[in-house]
Amino acid sequence: MQEGSFRPPRPAERSASAGFAVNRLDRMSERRNDAAFIQELKQSGAARSLVLFGEIPVLKRGAEGYDALFTAAEAERLGEARETVFLGHDGESALFAILIDADAPEIAQERDDIALMDLRQIATQDLAPAGILGAFGQAKSLMHWHARHRFCSNCGAPSRAFSAGWRRACDACGAQHFPRTDPVVIMLVVNGEDCLLGRHAGSRRAGHPEGMYTCLAGFVESGETIEDAVRREVFEEAGIKAGRVDYLASQPWPFPASLMIGCIAQAPSRSLTIDAKELDDARWFSREEAGLMLADRHPAGLICPPKLAIANLLIAAWVAGETR
Ligand SMILES: [Zn+2]
Repeated sequence: MQEGSFRPPRPAERSASAGFAVNRLDRMSERRNDAAFIQELKQSGAARSLVLFGEIPVLKRGAEGYDALFTAAEAERLGEARETVFLGHDGESALFAILIDADAPEIAQERDDIALMDLRQIATQDLAPAGILGAFGQAKSLMHWHARHRFCSNCGAPSRAFSAGWRRACDACGAQHFPRTDPVVIMLVVNGEDCLLGRHAGSRRAGHPEGMYTCLAGFVESGETIEDAVRREVFEEAGIKAGRVDYLASQPWPFPASLMIGCIAQAPSRSLTIDAKELDDARWFSREEAGLMLADRHPAGLICPPKLAIANLLIAAWVAGETR
């Protein structure tokens, strides 16, 4: 453990049970500009790296299952690193993320000791421990940003990463650029003993199972509070003028780089005007019905999103009577 490092307290807060939310790394942000220190961590034999080919994580395939942690030598054999980011220190070793420019399908065919796997698949099939999943989310969102910010958005000249991969600098105009996280509100709209769930337009195309109903959601816009964004989205999608909004939990969502802000919104009325561009369907569900959907026991086969998604956490908390 590094001297004076930050070990976050772990109260039993609701957000900690969301997918991609467990990340116990000490990010050591105050040391990121110390290039010699970061280099020393990287060259230490204990250092490990998560590797991404573009958006796709790479896993080592072994007799015991999959392993996401590559030594420096193992990572080098996968190809040249385009970006390297220091994710943090777990108390025993430093963890880095490496983005590799490589022809992923070719490498996957040539090498039977590695597997390329979508991060959702790693999560839903439990192929990595929760802490690794959280760090993969951190890595994927950051690398998505690097891959799309190779040129300065102020003057158009090439930019370069610095501060252990947490900033990009433009040497032509002096601008500095910071990684983005996009806030998204996701809300369970409730009216007495009922909650509103919808089926997003394009759900089928996105591969969501038939019969899956979920919370409404949308991006927070410039100049908006979380509460105002919730009320605007609920009105736009379902025609309801929601009243009180309470924050419940949040979740880093690395598809590509969002922070899901989970809320409960009170609806004063039950009449709906569905925006067909946003939703294929939306309707009220009783507490009992929502409970059956969570348990996959609904008589019509309707279901809620899996536990990986914060929508599941919001619905479960309301069904259990844990929300105001
Ligand atoms: Zn510039």
